Amino acid sequence: MTITTSHFINGAWTESGGRTFAVTNPLNDELVAEVAAGTAADAAAAVAAAAAAFPAWANMGPGARQALFLKAADIVERRTEELVQLMAVEGGASRAFSTFQIRLSAAMLRQAAGWGYLPAGDVLRSDTPGRMALVTRKPLGVVAGFTPWNGAFYLAWRTFLLPMAFGNTTVIKPSELAPMSSGLIHAEILEEAGFPAGSFNVVTNAPGEAAAIGEVFFESPAVRCINFTGSDKTARILGERAGRALKRMVLELGGFNPVIILDDADIVESVKAVTFGAFLHQGQVCMNSRKVYVARALHDEFVSALSARVQSLKVGDPTDPSVIIGPLINDSALEQIQLRVKDALDRGATLVTGGRADGRLYPPTILAHVPAGAICTTGSNETFGPLLVVEAFDDLEDALRDAQDTPYGLSASIMTGDRARGLDIAQRFDSGIVHVNAPTMASEASLPVGGVKASGWGRSGYYSLEDFTEIRLTTMSSE
Ligand code: ADP
Repeated sequence: MTITTSHFINGAWTESGGRTFAVTNPLNDELVAEVAAGTAADAAAAVAAAAAAFPAWANMGPGARQALFLKAADIVERRTEELVQLMAVEGGASRAFSTFQIRLSAAMLRQAAGWGYLPAGDVLRSDTPGRMALVTRKPLGVVAGFTPWNGAFYLAWRTFLLPMAFGNTTVIKPSELAPMSSGLIHAEILEEAGFPAGSFNVVTNAPGEAAAIGEVFFESPAVRCINFTGSDKTARILGERAGRALKRMVLELGGFNPVIILDDADIVESVKAVTFGAFLHQGQVCMNSRKVYVARALHDEFVSALSARVQSLKVGDPTDPSVIIGPLINDSALEQIQLRVKDALDRGATLVTGGRADGRLYPPTILAHVPAGAICTTGSNETFGPLLVVEAFDDLEDALRDAQDTPYGLSASIMTGDRARGLDIAQRFDSGIVHVNAPTMASEASLPVGGVKASGWGRSGYYSLEDFTEIRLTTMSSE
């Protein structure tokens, strides 16, 4: 595997005064890489490179840009085995999760490749006789992105590829927990594909030093948008700073992602959807389901079938292709799960399965009969791990109310044998995404993923046009 330790600035791998930090395997603390500890000066150099590259990138013909994106997609697929290995040792990702990300990433690159050919605006009529109006979509300039460790590979593509597809240049600050799979490996891929120097830059930072890099982005007039994927806690800090700088923000944050299983749902399909939705990547993804509401008539059968399926998921070293559940990212992730499980059990909840850690390996865990007030069943407390609360409901209205009693509004699922009923209930969800008969984690690169309320601002896919371009109105005499 290639271990890259430098920043990627203006098309060159750049040292940072020799200072580095260690990235370790969450399973066993083995050293994975020594990565450059960036400074404000590195961030400033990266912003300057992106700003200098902007005019040429913005004006590149759609065909030339398309060829680059298509080439990058091919490289992603060609490097699949290496990427799977990297995501396993750096982030604890199982093969199931890393291949899910690789598939989505290649698809997103191929879709974005064509966007340059879409109409660039509209011609409008003016009320003023003899005037016409051109409405043109323009890229913003430099978009700076903060990428997370969890869906590292895919979410990093989403952070910079979408702005780049609309003509912006980018600077990425990867997560210090997984800097290679959340940014540096992308630089290798884009370099190999032949992207122009400066169009894409990466500056890594040691733990606790993110703010110094971020400050450069906020201060720099060339940076016109901050694209952040991470926790709402950090987003609130960055949002205050963005307010002072008056910078546009695009935010992809957490979620509660409830599932409602109606009395006419197929149990086997529901079990499959919930297993994937709740436990993919050990429940460490913003769209993982945290709570399932099951019609009482199906509750016992559903819980025992879910419990059996979940117990069959192999927990262990994710470099073993048969392992589905790898380690949690770090000790604080483990502690927050343990705290929630203990709190629920102390209040009288029933442990259906799981609940016992082996190092940072934590098995998929299901709690039932969780009393109101327990941390894990409260919609304002996003649980970031393999913990699912299952609750029976008698009245759908109660379930809908409880499922939406959360500051988040990212994804939700309704499982039902009656599609019209599912569609009807879906319209009542205050959520960016509602799936009928699919997991909350269901994703397609082309579809507009994003949240409402504390789950974020903006959408991925083609709709990110709204986030990463602005409109120029030009009026002129028509004769
Ligand atoms: P997560 O817990 O999912 O990693 P965080 O919100 O903590 O989410 O981090 C997401 C990204 O935001 C990471 O790249 C992290 O380094 C960055 N980050 C965290 N705090 C700050 C900050 N004060 N300024 C700039 N970036 C930050």
